[in-house]
Amino acid sequence: MKKQDLDWSNLGFNYRPTHKRFVSNWKDGAWDEGCLTENDTVTISESAGVLQYSQSCFEGLKAYTTVDGRIVTFRPDLNAERMYNTCIRLEMPPYPKDKWVEAVEKVVAANEDFVPPYGTGASLYIRPFMFGSAPVIGVKPSKEYQFRIFTTPVGSYFAGPIKPIYITVSDFDRAAPNGTGHVKAGLNYAMSLHPLMEAHRAGFDENMFLDSKTRTKVEETGGANFLFVTKDGTVVTPKSPSILPSITRRSLIYVAEHYLGLKVEEREVFFEEVPDFAECGLCGTAAVISPVGQLNDHGKTIVFGKGLEEPGPTILKLRETLTGIQMGEIEAPEGWIHEIKC
Ligand SMILES: *Cc1c(COP(=O)(O)O)cnc(C)c1O
Repeated sequence: MKKQDLDWSNLGFNYRPTHKRFVSNWKDGAWDEGCLTENDTVTISESAGVLQYSQSCFEGLKAYTTVDGRIVTFRPDLNAERMYNTCIRLEMPPYPKDKWVEAVEKVVAANEDFVPPYGTGASLYIRPFMFGSAPVIGVKPSKEYQFRIFTTPVGSYFAGPIKPIYITVSDFDRAAPNGTGHVKAGLNYAMSLHPLMEAHRAGFDENMFLDSKTRTKVEETGGANFLFVTKDGTVVTPKSPSILPSITRRSLIYVAEHYLGLKVEEREVFFEEVPDFAECGLCGTAAVISPVGQLNDHGKTIVFGKGLEEPGPTILKLRETLTGIQMGEIEAPEGWIHEIKC
């Protein structure tokens, strides 16, 4: 199929509708067959569960073209599983995991000409999401739900060289100790917007959130997990029941251990240890891993390696190796690369 005529290398990260999206509705206790549709709008009651009590959740993954021209997604089974767990926590009906992956395949295949060519750094971002669609007024779960998957082409997160970012410790909390921090609920993002904008207004790119119970341990940012590297090259990532289990982070620590032969520790990370780390990065689907050069702690600056000048070597190596695996340039572990037959 002839590709869309887009400036693939300068797409940015914006919503741009593509041909088809997948829609399935849950009613009377069951999901319908689902179908692809050209309709990019949703019409629901003004009293829908999502509008009144924020019953919504989402996922995010990418389709892209490998070096040998295959269209693939990266570990979509893990996104299916995470959304399943999110739904259970939000009293929403989970969408069957195998059907979930099939639906992703269908949407990507239907928008094949929007999957950016290899080498552009761009990808087709896939956004599966679910929301309560039936009217509620008393506080209770909606009786009906809609599951949708749309796709939109996005540019490389880093246009040009990878520049380290400057983040700040936030005095806001991201997640309660026994709350919803570990699931991908829209509500986690709604309440992170104010801390994010406050950070931006103060000149920082992102927040570092601490555990809300003791405020002594590193959690994550609004949308990415932390990965640190010690001075002797050990990769350390925070472990906490209120962190969202990033698929990128889980993949990177596997790469660190099995491809780069590094020691990996997944454990509680105390904030007081942070100044001792040599490197710091943020992991998520959008950026893979984005280096943090500086961290502001209430007016005191913590500098990692060469600070804002250049990214640390281990983070760069991790990034290159994982992107190489994703692009089919380096052999992938079994099951990581999921080919889409168009
Ligand atoms: C989605 C998300 C991440 C990143 O997860 P990936 O699976 O790597 O994309 C990290 N933190 C939060 C809070 C998230 O919502």
